[in-house]
Amino acid sequence: MPLLVVGSVAFDSIQTPAATRERVLGGSAVFFSYSASYFAPVRLVGVVGEDWPSEHSELLQKRNIDTAGLHVVQGGKTFFWKGKYLPNMNDRETLEVQLNVFGDFKPTLPEHFRRSDFVFLANGSPVTQLKTLEQVQQPKLVVADTMDLWIREQHAGLMELMRRVDGLVMNDSEAKLLTGEENLVAAGHKVLELGPKFVVIKKGEHGAMFFSKHETYVLPAFPTDRVVDPTGAGDSFAGGMMGYLAAKNSFEPKVLKEAMAYGILVASFNVEDFSLDRLKQIDRSDLDLRMEKYRKMLSF
Ligand code: AMP
Repeated sequence: MPLLVVGSVAFDSIQTPAATRERVLGGSAVFFSYSASYFAPVRLVGVVGEDWPSEHSELLQKRNIDTAGLHVVQGGKTFFWKGKYLPNMNDRETLEVQLNVFGDFKPTLPEHFRRSDFVFLANGSPVTQLKTLEQVQQPKLVVADTMDLWIREQHAGLMELMRRVDGLVMNDSEAKLLTGEENLVAAGHKVLELGPKFVVIKKGEHGAMFFSKHETYVLPAFPTDRVVDPTGAGDSFAGGMMGYLAAKNSFEPKVLKEAMAYGILVASFNVEDFSLDRLKQIDRSDLDLRMEKYRKMLSF
């Protein structure tokens, strides 16, 4: 089943305690698409400026990512984000954001994107997320991501979005900010009251928690000491998870749990190098091999 994603397509400048990289390929929709492409074809909706090199689109197209929804604005500049990681490699500071063409992005979906059963509304303003959703005809599963910026600045829009989605993916600090709860289990349950049928709270190196009316569980991260750049870990987690669900054409509880595990594993590869550099080196068999190790690790 094809999977549609809307989100940021970016140039990222990254500083870690060990190294820096300038203007590498990034953005929530890019990490998501590439990660989902191990499992299912992806339809990408986003916007870039005329500084966008065609090689970046070709890289995505080679992975069966349809870029017909990637709008190029002549005379415009691509979204730019600069971040710095603290020595613990979990916490980061945003040093600079230039919204550029992403600032007033009004997505228009190509005709053949409008029938997409699986939809992921990656990090972006709730207005853009809702505008995309309005154009999709009867999707089976809609999941959204959000961040502190929108929780603080577009609360009403975010509340409307919550009522329209089936699932929400967010990180631990965002769940606390949204609900005012310090306890993550209480926060997860409070988010469910806002509309989504399930919520995934990502906890960085500590894995991810799942909440629905019937189930609450936690899956650990795949242990690794090779954390080079965590940028995009959340998006690659969501990409692996949604890609697997689209491939199975199901979101029943057992499949959702397997999908979460695949999301965790794609993210564990993503953090091993900058940008998409590590993901470019792996294929589905590497993920399945890591899945065997992960299953062994969890059985006792
Ligand atoms: P993650 O590490 O999963 O939170 O994703 C990091 C990616 O999100 C980077 O590649 C950034 O380009 C992108 N990003 C940062 N800030 C924003 C924002 N305000 N809206 C959309 N995407 C963003």
